Amino acid sequence: MQDTRCISEIFGELVFNDMVMQERLPKKIYKELKKTIAEGKELDLAVADVVAHEMKEWALEQGATHYSHWFQPLTGATAEKHDAFLSAPQPSGKVLMEFSGKELVKGEPDASSFPSGGLRATFEARGYTAWDCTSPAFVKKGKNGFGGILYIPTAFCSYKGEALDQKTPLLRSMEAINEQALRLLRLFGNETSHRVTPSVGAEQEYFLVDREKYLKRKDLVFTGRTLFGAMPPKGQELDDHYFGVIRDRIAAFMRDVNTELWKLGVSAKTQHNEAAPAQHELAPIYAECNLAADHNQLVMETLKVVAYRHGLQCVLHEKPFAGVNGSGKHNNWSLVTDDGINLLDPGKTPHENIQFLLVLTCILRAVDKHAALLRESAADVGNDHRLGAAEAPPAIISVYLGEQLQDVLSQLISTGEATHSIKGGHLHTGVRTLPDFAMDATDRNRTSPFAFTGNKFEFRMVGSRDSVAPANVVLNTIVAESFADACERLERAKETDKLEMAIHDLIKEYASAHQRIVFNGNGYSEEWVAEAVRRGLPNLDCMVDTIPSLTTEDSVGLFERFGVFTRAELQSRAEIQYETYTKAMNIEARAMIDIASKQIIPAVVQYTTALASSINQIKSACGEANISVQIELLKECSNALAATKAALKELTVLTDNARNYPEGQERAVYFRRKVVPAMEELRVPVDKLEMLVAKEMWPMPSYGDLLFEV
Ligand code: ADP
Ligand code: MG
Repeated sequence: MQDTRCISEIFGELVFNDMVMQERLPKKIYKELKKTIAEGKELDLAVADVVAHEMKEWALEQGATHYSHWFQPLTGATAEKHDAFLSAPQPSGKVLMEFSGKELVKGEPDASSFPSGGLRATFEARGYTAWDCTSPAFVKKGKNGFGGILYIPTAFCSYKGEALDQKTPLLRSMEAINEQALRLLRLFGNETSHRVTPSVGAEQEYFLVDREKYLKRKDLVFTGRTLFGAMPPKGQELDDHYFGVIRDRIAAFMRDVNTELWKLGVSAKTQHNEAAPAQHELAPIYAECNLAADHNQLVMETLKVVAYRHGLQCVLHEKPFAGVNGSGKHNNWSLVTDDGINLLDPGKTPHENIQFLLVLTCILRAVDKHAALLRESAADVGNDHRLGAAEAPPAIISVYLGEQLQDVLSQLISTGEATHSIKGGHLHTGVRTLPDFAMDATDRNRTSPFAFTGNKFEFRMVGSRDSVAPANVVLNTIVAESFADACERLERAKETDKLEMAIHDLIKEYASAHQRIVFNGNGYSEEWVAEAVRRGLPNLDCMVDTIPSLTTEDSVGLFERFGVFTRAELQSRAEIQYETYTKAMNIEARAMIDIASKQIIPAVVQYTTALASSINQIKSACGEANISVQIELLKECSNALAATKAALKELTVLTDNARNYPEGQERAVYFRRKVVPAMEELRVPVDKLEMLVAKEMWPMPSYGDLLFEV
């Protein structure tokens, strides 16, 4: 049934948020909890007991029967195990509803089957989940609003405290940047801000296809993307889908998605049709980094669940269809103090804003120094089809500053001082009835992977299926490092009363030393690729080539310095990445083999047999008839069929051969260099056949059916 209440009534109704806590917790307990959250300390068990009790009572009122420690292991998905609020039956046969403080703050799921990258042998199955009390608990209702589970956002660690999830390093990196950013603010005389938090707004792109058609596409079902598919007559070239009218079926879906998300306290704000047919986008209002990461998981999950209810399938893969745009997730990132100062806000006259210029040049330095690591943070199997393919940012990391900041930077580099900022002009529409607009001082650049957009940076490489956590772990840590290095120099200068001079010198030094990372031109052009080589910028165009950057001495030093990852944790993550890549490619190759052998070849055989017998029939009925077309078609089909069979054989041999390569990097590289090209070889004759064989005999819905009949 349609929920007709207004947003403000619905918003957060299933969240154990601050308002609920204030209402329900005794004042003293509430204060203790807030203090613990603010200081990031461990929660006292006596306090936890009271919080747990109230949380349980509240959850029961929402219809919950179970609680779950909700976490984000390194599988890309979220994980949950449900426990009923239930004690052992009493002698009378009655049971009590129980939930203790201990159960709230710590869980111990059997962790043996989650990827650990060698951090933990299978017999050492212990893993712990710990409540991340900075992200509020919430209740998710069952189908039709019945029942419900209380979800407690948690971090997931091994018995020895090593991070096994996305959240632990994210929280650690937030600590790191908080500490260093505060140190920097103090140098500028700020004594009033007490916390600096990265704010993140993740724009989520996705495709919607009809579920019945989806189920007939085994490639989509098994791998999340199409492995075959001839181009339809129309793609996205008319740009008529982008920001187009949202059709009823999709609008109804979006309405339900929004309602579900609002109830969960996710501030779903913007929705629109994207560039490719059947592609859409949802963006929430930005939130604190770890909350934004949790919320993005809820967004992805909700899109899928609600799509299912509407007879649709939400496809989150980065490149579900060749020939039209893929999906990404723009990660908008800024640094905001607890008293509301955005460190990335340049103000109207950036050239006078010394603090901003220092922050900016520190970020340039961070991105330049660790470009490969930042690239790695967005590495994802599906992103290999996207990055560098002239629809998404190139695989080369660079920073777009725009005209105004570029000009300030040039002044700094050439004269050591910036004396003016380019002002935004007025936009003259040439229409008498329209007012002239005040224009931004800077245009946008869609082709940049890391673009300054007014008061935030937009990191555009993250994959649509991926967690935003890794990208933010890297961003937070590399910027923390630049801040720390700057502070060390500046604090020394302060002792000798030379702070102001030192800040100017440092800004100039960083701007000059790292200007090669700045690129304001067309990131899709071939000239840029050549120019990037000249500048010595890394161009890592596939996932397997990015992974080594996780474990360089430089990276280990960086992450250990700020307590974000240990060497062992980094090694385990690299191993998991290789493993993930290998498994995904193995599944894709096997799915191709399966579909080609069991669906496509039989269909083509059937078609050619029917064609041959009709040729014979026509011949015997009237030997004189012109059957050149039928014969030509039969020949074309037979040739493409032979090519298919040969390519299939080759792919099968190469895929089987993978087991001869040691697991880890070698096997992953083998898949990338040998199996991936063989998959592309198989696709060519199959897509050709799709254009030859009668539509009703082709064994699966076409691109046209999937993209234009939603
Ligand atoms: P656009 O990128 O088209 O300008 P928006 O301004 O709406 O779109 O921003 C896109 C995303 O960036 C939204 O999720 C928004 O909440 C988020 N965002 C806006 N300001 C900030 C900020 N200061 N820090 C982080 N994210 C932000
Ligand atoms: Mg944007």
